[in-house]
Amino acid sequence: METGKKNENIKNLGVIITNCPSCGYRSLNVSFLEYEAGLAGSILINTLICETCGYKDSSIFSLKEGKTKRKKIIVKGIEDLKTKVFRSETTTIKIPELGVEITPGSKANSYITNIEGILNRVEDALQKLVTLDEGKRKEVEEKLNEIKKIKNGDKEISVIIEDPEGKSFFIPTWKN
Ligand SMILES: [Zn+2]
Repeated sequence: METGKKNENIKNLGVIITNCPSCGYRSLNVSFLEYEAGLAGSILINTLICETCGYKDSSIFSLKEGKTKRKKIIVKGIEDLKTKVFRSETTTIKIPELGVEITPGSKANSYITNIEGILNRVEDALQKLVTLDEGKRKEVEEKLNEIKKIKNGDKEISVIIEDPEGKSFFIPTWKN
């Protein structure tokens, strides 16, 4: 990307305040800039800055996929577990291999997590399920075992995010 000259092709998509992955406080400013890069299509520049602890991160990725309502990635190994997900408040996350669907609750907030964070949520939900319904123990234990395999990089899964507003996306781990 060209630096040096001021660019009129940059559009500010807004700022979201969410929980910081480092200190946990709700003081993480996540800003999104869209950069129109001609033939390369649109590029999204995502910057994260925490006002509490100073945590900083940024990533740049292609919006070639466009603002589609349904996006899918294949998680093949441990490295892929770090793939970040920006989940808007209207997003449903699906992992078909586990028969899992995380639907937005009534008080849902947008947040950034990663695949591992999603799996942790699923584990928590499964643990709760057993306390509510002892009859589900066997099924739950099988699923927890599957999750262990995924976390060890021994099982491939697909993760699908569906957002009627098309605002959710995967943030690749590579940096420019
Ligand atoms: Zn922080």
